[in-house]
Amino acid sequence: MNLISATPTSIQLAAEIIRNGNLVAFPTETVYGLGAEALKAQACAKIFAAKNRPYFDPLIVHIADLSWLEKLCARFDQRARQLAEKFWPGPLTMVVPKTDLVPDIVTAGLPNVALRMPNHPVALALLNAAQTPIAAPSANPFGYLSPTTAQHVAEQLGNQVDLILDGGPCAIGVESTILDLSGEPPTLLRPGGLPVESLELVVGNMVVPKAESPRPHAPGQLPSHYAPRTPVEFLPGDFVFPANKKAGLLVLQTPVENLPFFKIEILSPAGDLTEAAANLFSCLHRLDRAGLEVIYVERVPETGLGRAIMDRLRKAAAPRPGG
Ligand code: AMP
Ligand code: MG
Repeated sequence: MNLISATPTSIQLAAEIIRNGNLVAFPTETVYGLGAEALKAQACAKIFAAKNRPYFDPLIVHIADLSWLEKLCARFDQRARQLAEKFWPGPLTMVVPKTDLVPDIVTAGLPNVALRMPNHPVALALLNAAQTPIAAPSANPFGYLSPTTAQHVAEQLGNQVDLILDGGPCAIGVESTILDLSGEPPTLLRPGGLPVESLELVVGNMVVPKAESPRPHAPGQLPSHYAPRTPVEFLPGDFVFPANKKAGLLVLQTPVENLPFFKIEILSPAGDLTEAAANLFSCLHRLDRAGLEVIYVERVPETGLGRAIMDRLRKAAAPRPGG
């Protein structure tokens, strides 16, 4: 088994695997990443192969040291510096103009690169030991639920990755917030682990596209994503319990009455949206393994981390490619 508890020794081994151009899955505070040396195109190509990820979907590059910002970013302005100082390490990804050090495969041919400093001791130790930026998308097959435990990675991608570092469950549990700083004004590309409200306090004039917007507004972000294999539907207002269907339910809080669903998962008994985000993918993984015909999901308020939760649920419920 290539799943190993994260210790100083196993992190050194993982760093060597990265430096040899191979793949390591590692924990971050958002979700588990599938990492390769970011400055080597051939190593990054292995990420796309392992995930079955289309080449038009660019990768986020992780760094542990601000000096990499100057080396990877062609126009490192005051605003990027201010955001990095305020929110890094943390669940904010910044899209900035790239230098020639960043291979085109990483950015899907775009002139900009997405950069983040993760706030997780294992991720930071791995980056420091490897002495290189690490390109890492979520460690799941393309389009499927993101992994928030090492076991999720082992189940989904166990055979495609050289080593999985186990650092326990991810504290935030949804992917990073992505802010595009390459143009004016800055644009939110994906709501995520850093609440938009916190960003808006620092970036006064920013564009936040409407949540229901049917078109993908970030490169690589398709309408259907983060999806379990089981079909997902939002719980309609006039819901009638489906008599002949093996249905599951994902709710924010503990329901007041006993509902006759085959399986119910509760995101946060107290209705706390931060706790709900941390539990989102684990709840969906369990529902997806329960042999259901449909998973009904309840809407959550779109404030704080609720915005990221609703973004993931909308994509999970979107029509699937080819079906
Ligand atoms: P993930 O698969 O969670 O690592 O997220 C990667 C996402 O970040 C991609 O699907 C893009 O939407 C976004 N992204 C990465 N690089 C760029 C870039 N250079 N420009 C714009 N968006 C990017
Ligand atoms: Mg992903």
